[in-house]
Amino acid sequence: MTEIRALVAGNWKMNGLTESAAEARALAEFLTQDAVSGCSVLLCPPFTLLAPFASLLEGTGIGLGGQDCHSNRAGANTGDISAEMLKDLGCEYVIVGHSERRAGHGEDDALVRAKAEAAHEAGLKAIVCIGETQDKRQAGQTLDVIQMQLAGSLPDGSGIGNTLVAYEPVWAIGTGLTPSLEDVGEVHSLIRQDLIARFGTEGAGMNILYGGSVKPSNAGALMAVDNVDGALVGGASLKAHEFNGIIDAYR
Ligand code: PEP
Repeated sequence: MTEIRALVAGNWKMNGLTESAAEARALAEFLTQDAVSGCSVLLCPPFTLLAPFASLLEGTGIGLGGQDCHSNRAGANTGDISAEMLKDLGCEYVIVGHSERRAGHGEDDALVRAKAEAAHEAGLKAIVCIGETQDKRQAGQTLDVIQMQLAGSLPDGSGIGNTLVAYEPVWAIGTGLTPSLEDVGEVHSLIRQDLIARFGTEGAGMNILYGGSVKPSNAGALMAVDNVDGALVGGASLKAHEFNGIIDAYR
C-alpha cells in the first residue's frame, strides 16, 4: 500500500488584514512547541497576505498556497493572478475549483481543469476541489456528481507530485454540518478507485482531503476514515488555536 503523508490546509478565504500575521505567528509557535509528525501544514491566505506570509512562514515548516489562479500564464486579465505569480511569491500549492468559485464565479470543470494545468506548468501542486450540493445529495446523485467533477476537473498528467483532491460537500462548508463518517468513507473510496483507474499507482498515492466544517472536535474521527489523507479547513483555520486543535489529529 502507498504511504501518503497527510496535509492539513487552511483556506482563509477573503479574511485577514496585515494584523492577522499574529495568527500565523501563533500557529508557527504551536507547531514548534508541540511538533507534528503525521502531517504537513499549509496556509492559504488571501492574495494580499501572500508576500508577508512568505517571509513570516519561512523556516517554520508551514507551507504557503494561493486560493485560486488564472488559467492563462500572463496577459490581459485585469485583477487576476497567474500560477507563475504565486510560485514567484513562494507558494507551493494553489486551491482550484473551490465551490465558492464554482458557484460565485461560474467556474465549470473545464475551467478548473485548465487552472490545474496552469498550476502544474508553473510547478505548483493543485488542490482540486469537488463536492455535491444539498439538492444533489438529497436526489441520491452524490456519487455521480463526484465522478463527473473528478473526471472533468483533473488534467491528464495529474499525479502525486502535482495534484491533491479535496472532497468538500457544498452543504457542509461553513454550516457546521458534516456527512456521516460512512458517507465520507464511501465518497473517498470512490474517488480513490477512480484515481487508480485513471492514473494507476500515481492515483493510489494522491492525497484526498476532506473539507467541510472540520473542527477540533470532529477532526480525529474524520481523519481516521479510510482514504482521508488530511483536511481542507475554512473557518477553523482563522484562529491559530483552533487550527492547531485540528492538527492535533496527526500528533
Ligand atoms: C472551505 O471553505 O474549504 C471549508 C471547508 O470551509 P469550512 O471549514 O468553514 O466549512
